[in-house]
Amino acid sequence: EPALSIRGLTKVYGNGFHALKGIDLDVAQGDFYALLGPNGAGKSTTLGVVCSLVQKTAGKVSIFGIDIDTDFARAKYHLGVVPQEFNFNQFEKVLDIVMAQAGYYGMSRREALPRAEQLLRDLGLWDKRNGSARMLSGGMKRRLMIARALIHRPKLLILDEPTAGVDIELRRSMWEYMRRINREEGTTIILTTHYLEEAESLCRHVGIINHGKIIRNTSVRELLAEL
Ligand code: ADP
Ligand code: ADP
Repeated sequence: EPALSIRGLTKVYGNGFHALKGIDLDVAQGDFYALLGPNGAGKSTTLGVVCSLVQKTAGKVSIFGIDIDTDFARAKYHLGVVPQEFNFNQFEKVLDIVMAQAGYYGMSRREALPRAEQLLRDLGLWDKRNGSARMLSGGMKRRLMIARALIHRPKLLILDEPTAGVDIELRRSMWEYMRRINREEGTTIILTTHYLEEAESLCRHVGIINHGKIIRNTSVRELLAEL
């Protein structure tokens, strides 16, 4: 079964705006998938529905075969999410933010602590672990959210514009890290981006979304062959 399957997804916001107009999408296990499209296309809305942050109007979404309407409580264990905006308490300590997330997934401290420490090391936050998150640079905060999203070893990692506003050097190192967990741990990764370059250098498959519709769904290789 696919890591993510979406059928006939529509979203009409409270103000009557049709943000999604019947999205169909499958992302295979182990894939590195980009949802590519301009601002306002419906990328965040799509991810919001998958993470159960946005209430859909119609359609079906399943994560590793688990319908999110009937069993989000189970589906969420497979899912790690990095939203666009910083949504952690800036006054908490870096390590505590990651450990609190482990608690949310019911991990014991004994299991979670070495995992959290490893993630902070891998993401270059080790020296900052006992400091307040508000002292981190923007790029560090972004990496903190990645560490937090990975604490429970999700099989599907979803990132909303992970490198927006990040300088080129950090962008490269984040790309390298994402490639590594996709390759070495087999984590399925879905990201949204409006940079073709990001989709092209990182991802295997790409869905192009515009005005709430998927207008292309293809491999990056095929897409590049056409350009
Ligand atoms: P829903 O229909 O899913 O309940 P709402 O229409 O109630 O969503 O909007 C939720 C919030 O998003 C409101 O605070 C609303 O003001 C805000 N919002 C409205 N329009 C936009 C927009 N174009 N982009 C982002 N947020 C918006
Ligand atoms: P993207 O992530 O591709 O930039 P979004 O999914 O954030 O696009 O938004 C898709 C469209 O839905 C945009 O036109 C946006 O203004 C609108 N929108 C987003 N949130 C809301 C909301 N809460 N209420 C009304 N319209 C919204």
